[in-house]
Amino acid sequence: MSNAENTASEVRDVIIVGSGPAGYTAAVYTARANLKPLLLAGSVTAGGELMNTTDVENYPGFPEGIMGPDLMENFEKQAARFGTEIQFEDVTELDLDGEIKTVTIATGEKFQARSIILSTGSAYRELGLANEKRLSGHGVSWCATCDGFFFKDQDIAVIGGGDSAMEEALFLTKFAKSVTVVHRRDSLRASKIMADRALAHEKINFVWNSAVEDVLGGDKVTGLRLKNLVDGTETELAVTGVFVAIGNDPRTDLVKGKLELSPEGTIAVQGRSSKTSVPGVFAAGDVIDPTYRQAITASGSGCVAALDVEHYLADLHA
Ligand code: NAP
Repeated sequence: MSNAENTASEVRDVIIVGSGPAGYTAAVYTARANLKPLLLAGSVTAGGELMNTTDVENYPGFPEGIMGPDLMENFEKQAARFGTEIQFEDVTELDLDGEIKTVTIATGEKFQARSIILSTGSAYRELGLANEKRLSGHGVSWCATCDGFFFKDQDIAVIGGGDSAMEEALFLTKFAKSVTVVHRRDSLRASKIMADRALAHEKINFVWNSAVEDVLGGDKVTGLRLKNLVDGTETELAVTGVFVAIGNDPRTDLVKGKLELSPEGTIAVQGRSSKTSVPGVFAAGDVIDPTYRQAITASGSGCVAALDVEHYLADLHA
């Protein structure tokens, strides 16, 4: 079937792809501007990174903190309240050429719009080891809040030295017998408050200057082979769980070759705006941000994209 035959006839003002803080904020703003946004939220990844987070203590407006999934439920309700149409579908293809853009979802259904906001966020980074992949779900995980419970009274390793790693390590102390943070340098990248909490915790140990050479185990993880990056010595660390928390990469698979990317791999935008290299296509949140990557900065960025869309559509209709 040709594109034209399979295309929905309605041309919307705006379609938002992605449902983290950036996507939902863009939805709230465009819905309140009466643009009747369609938000394609993703089937398994709906809500984005914050769905895998526990306490969010630094999102302004919640003095006692809020759980990540609760915050995202609030975002969703607020977007829906103003008339956002939310569909929990995965986008498989984008046709961004011309004035009318076409978005295809996994079922093959197509949607059309005059403008698109891309807020596809970022994906967990992997160590890139064959056994990491093989033992994924059998001791290797990227999400302590999802899988921590299965590691009750076990010895667990967390890989990484940033806020994510500290957050995972601290969360895992609720279940684990011990948590060993393996970091490739001799100091943490994490914020001081998170680093201090982890360094002071009696269940958390640190292995510094060490890279993971291999994940060991047949059907299940039994340990890690580590290499000391200062003297080159190799050791084995006996653990039954490994949580990889070494950052994220922007999710740009849908737009590779269609939009300009920055040297860091994020979608390139013009100045402080959300305008991409293609007119009518806007981007917001972690997918454009190699630096700050906070829920609040993603929200702000979603707001910028919504305002840019409003101006773009006003110019189109003028
Ligand atoms: P990040 O700050 O980029 O830290 C990634 C860590 O993983 C770094 O310590 C890095 O080592 C290490 N790493 C990267 N690639 C590696 C590899 N191939 N092998 C071994 N180690 C590797 O990422 P993040 O911790 O996910 O944080 C991202 C952003 O989200 C930050 O702005 C952070 O503040 C924010 N965040 C905040 C919170 C919170 O406030 N509660 C929680 C989570 C995340 P090097 O240090 O050597 O580069």
